[in-house]
Amino acid sequence: MDNLRLWHKFLESIKPNISSANFKTFFSKTLLERVTEEKVTLSTSSAFIKETLSQRHLPLIEEVFANLLGKRVVIDFVIKEVIAENNSQTETDFFQPVRTQTTTILNPKYTLANFVVGPSNNVAYAAAQAVIQNPGASYNPLFFYGGTGVGKTHLMLGIGNAVLEKKPHLKIIYCSSEKFTNDYVEAIQNRRMGDLRSKYRSADLLLVDDAQFFSGREQTQEEFFHTFNELTSRNSQIVLTSDRAPSEMPKLEDRLKSRFQGGLMVDIQSPDIDTRVAILKAKCMERGDHLPEECLSLIAEATETNARELEGKLIQIIQVLKIQKMPPTIESVRSILGQKPAAALSNLNYKQVLNTVCQYFDIRLNELTGPRRVKELVLPRHLVMHILSDELNLTVEKIGEILGGRDHTTVMHGRDKIKKLITTDREVQRVLIEVKQQLSASA
Ligand code: ADP
Ligand code: MG
Repeated sequence: MDNLRLWHKFLESIKPNISSANFKTFFSKTLLERVTEEKVTLSTSSAFIKETLSQRHLPLIEEVFANLLGKRVVIDFVIKEVIAENNSQTETDFFQPVRTQTTTILNPKYTLANFVVGPSNNVAYAAAQAVIQNPGASYNPLFFYGGTGVGKTHLMLGIGNAVLEKKPHLKIIYCSSEKFTNDYVEAIQNRRMGDLRSKYRSADLLLVDDAQFFSGREQTQEEFFHTFNELTSRNSQIVLTSDRAPSEMPKLEDRLKSRFQGGLMVDIQSPDIDTRVAILKAKCMERGDHLPEECLSLIAEATETNARELEGKLIQIIQVLKIQKMPPTIESVRSILGQKPAAALSNLNYKQVLNTVCQYFDIRLNELTGPRRVKELVLPRHLVMHILSDELNLTVEKIGEILGGRDHTTVMHGRDKIKKLITTDREVQRVLIEVKQQLSASA
């Protein structure tokens, strides 16, 4: 892509995410100067614009370039005093009350068009369509709940993308409850509650993913409660997802619980066999891969849990077929499926497991194997114990040694704890699936 086209694409993506006044003031006179392997240089017409762009719009600019270029780049600014005549106009624009921009870029990959509908999710799908037709009017809030990987985020982003297409002027914010919490904590620390409020409370459509993480966060819940009230009183649409129904969310204030229950709650269940086959077909199409229908059925039969796992299995099978140069037949797929996942993972050495877990949780190896027993390290450590024992078949003594000289009874305890949690705690379930997916990708 040449620079001019890149810049046009950039402006196109930025435009729906900020107010038109901001767009005019800060982007219309900015140009793309240079693009190198790791740096994009933008030229602005004044120091003022440069400051505002780098202080207020940098995350958005970075995000859009990362999307367009397929990698993260450093954004650099230079000042080129090209246009002076409109400076006064620029200043007035700035001092008008500024509508804070949406910093969300919705992942365009998730649409309603590529969401496969079946008995497990058709009610949720219909509700999504109703909300797209009439945001804020029919079901407010719309609350999706269900196990991990059943398509909650997909459907929620599908709503966002459809609304964005139909009504590009609407302000759409997508965040996880964790992001909202972090924004809140940061706003308190930097005394910028006003910014936080003008950001979230000016949304026309607010999409909050994984609301279960509001649990136990009293102050965040309070802030969200008021955000919620303000938005719904203006008929702005709110969509939430969670891994469980509001009534089952522990440490959630009653008033928030009743707000969540006040609209439409729909659960999404694990897909049945036909839906699983259809999902596999859709994923193959998206990836440009082809597997015969009977192979897809085999995979769907072998993977009963959820769509994320289904997709993981599909990718794994396609990879093995390619690497081993096997044709996609019932026999070859059956033989790959027949290998216990443990067999694939057992080829790994323990260092790969440690590294993958560290990477996943963003912790250092010496923290993982070290003595500190804080929550952030205990779950990763227990996961390692579980994987090394179950998948690599190492002895508890050996695992203790690997983990910085821990006693074998400690290892047994950690390993068994995870085993129990997998059946009761969806979050742990999800983490384990994702870690294993990363492991099998490196196996
Ligand atoms: P959740 O948020 O419920 O944990 P996601 O929405 O992240 O699950 O879905 C996990 C993966 O499965 C995504 O890649 C998503 O596209 C895919 N997926 C889930 N349900 C469907 C569906 N009905 N049709 C197509 N893809 C689906
Ligand atoms: Mg999700």
